[in-house]
Amino acid sequence: MKKLIGILGGTFNPIHYGHLRMAQELADALNLNEVRFIPSANPPHRTKPEVSAQHRAAMVQLAIRDNHLFRLDKSELKRTGASYTIDTLISLREELGEDNAFYLIMGSDVFVKLNTWHRWQELLDYCHIILIQRPNASPLQPKLPEELTALLHDHYKENADDLVLKNFGYIHMQKITPLDISATKIREMLATSPETKYLLPDSVLSYIKQHQLYLHKA
Ligand code: ATP
Repeated sequence: MKKLIGILGGTFNPIHYGHLRMAQELADALNLNEVRFIPSANPPHRTKPEVSAQHRAAMVQLAIRDNHLFRLDKSELKRTGASYTIDTLISLREELGEDNAFYLIMGSDVFVKLNTWHRWQELLDYCHIILIQRPNASPLQPKLPEELTALLHDHYKENADDLVLKNFGYIHMQKITPLDISATKIREMLATSPETKYLLPDSVLSYIKQHQLYLHKA
């Protein structure tokens, strides 16, 4: 049976309810059989996070452990060099075969820079892209680079039902409950107050305290 697999890459520095709620709503709306959380070991587009990939992955594991749809994928932690999404997609295809559909999830803040990604033109040969609007991020247009406007134009599917026609190759925008939570904001809050409750799971907060993470301003 064909599986629909959501792929959520990120630094997860730390994972928070914005990630978790978004993944759950997409799983429900698109009938995903699984969402893979893939922490980036060496994000190519930002300075290396101070908190190690091992800690960030451990926090993801804690956050998702009670959800049977969610799964931690540590494949980017095993590779050396920059963590390129295209390499992850290729190895996922090798692992899971051509018969399953991949849904690469990304916030609008990420999509507007997609044309700077390594081999970005090939991404849609491996997956669909599901765009979600992040609160307070400006709308995609008008500042979208021309080549991304063209990509959207060529691959956009308004109706989520159409995505099942293929296992890769479409872009779809999905509405979710806006939660204005960011890891940056959480890191700033943790630097001054370790009791930053209700933005991330308590299990993750306990881990942060236990390992004394984010004590210094990011
Ligand atoms: P930072 O503040 O450090 O940049 P972040 O909170 O944006 O971190 P990432 O790990 O970089 O988190 O995000 C991974 C993915 O999750 C990205 O596609 C991002 O757009 C999306 N995302 C992050 N926070 C939210 C949120 N509150 N609502 C919806 N999507 C989110």
